[in-house]
Amino acid sequence: MFSYRHAFHAGNHADVLKHLTLIATLRHLMRKSAPLTLVDTHAGAGLYRLDGDAAQTSGEATEGVLPLLAAHGSRSPRAPARPDEPGATDAATEDDALQDYLSMVASFNTAAGPVRIYPGSPFLMQRLMAEPARAAVRDRLRLFELHPSDSRALQANVAQLDAGRQISVQAQDGFEALPALLPPPAAPGGSRRALVLIDPSYEIKTDYTRTATTVQTALKRFANGVFLVWYPIIARPEAHGLPRRLKTLAIQAQRPWLHATLSIGQPAADAAAALTRDKPRRPGLSASGMFVINPPHTLAPRLRAALPTVLQTLKRGPGQGWHVEEGGGAR
Ligand code: SAM
Repeated sequence: MFSYRHAFHAGNHADVLKHLTLIATLRHLMRKSAPLTLVDTHAGAGLYRLDGDAAQTSGEATEGVLPLLAAHGSRSPRAPARPDEPGATDAATEDDALQDYLSMVASFNTAAGPVRIYPGSPFLMQRLMAEPARAAVRDRLRLFELHPSDSRALQANVAQLDAGRQISVQAQDGFEALPALLPPPAAPGGSRRALVLIDPSYEIKTDYTRTATTVQTALKRFANGVFLVWYPIIARPEAHGLPRRLKTLAIQAQRPWLHATLSIGQPAADAAAALTRDKPRRPGLSASGMFVINPPHTLAPRLRAALPTVLQTLKRGPGQGWHVEEGGGAR
């Protein structure tokens, strides 16, 4: 069975890039009143304790969401006290992708005191679905998580939302399950809309190929879907090849695409030495990317506005940088 547990990585720089992109994309899609089918093929546990053993052991949020919140977060006084209470945002916050992301994370925490809870992708999507302006639309969320413990944790976290049939959780292979959900059911007006997040752990090498073949099948079944794929930037041919394959698939399907990357760089040599003395640990992931097929036209400018601030706050040393590239004419 898999050993990857997202609790060790929650709120790291990779989650920052992924969740910023996810929220900015969904914000745009939710401007239209037709319902959306949202799919998270690799959902994780849904909610994470940043003060729990796993997050404290890795310390990854201290190089991700935590310094961003400290430097740029407005711990909104309107933040709800309970995670199942929709928070409130305004149009200006929505346009600022970084503020939107940070206030969303803050809204899962109490206004005063340390940030203890980090919301994973299922809870970010659910929170947007439940916002007062959106709740009546009744979007649907389909979650897949294969790890028995994380799947149980996700079930329990989702059960607290009392969302009924609006949210389903299945301990199933998300790659295998996705094709059957596409195309999504037609809304009363006849429109079919879907956003799919594919966020594997890439613990096994075949995850790279499975991601590409799943996107290929999904595009054949529903070329209008918005597909977001997260991948690690590591010294492995499969990791370098994945965005290239996704770009080819988008071009073959004649769909617009966007590719965003964020690298916080390698830790400076003396900082790394100090870390090794105090708390031995493997150097973590330093860069990752998001590949989006059918991105909204607002996504690239929002990421280009947000990523310089993110990098300025999180940069560690050699190799740091960000880039946003798009092709095919975003919609
Ligand atoms: N999407 C989550 C978020 O952003 O909060 C994080 C997901 S984590 C990177 C990847 C998850 O996929 C892990 O919890 C792992 O157990 C799960 N997983 C691995 N292979 C899977 C598969 N084939 N189908 C569904 N889940 C899988």
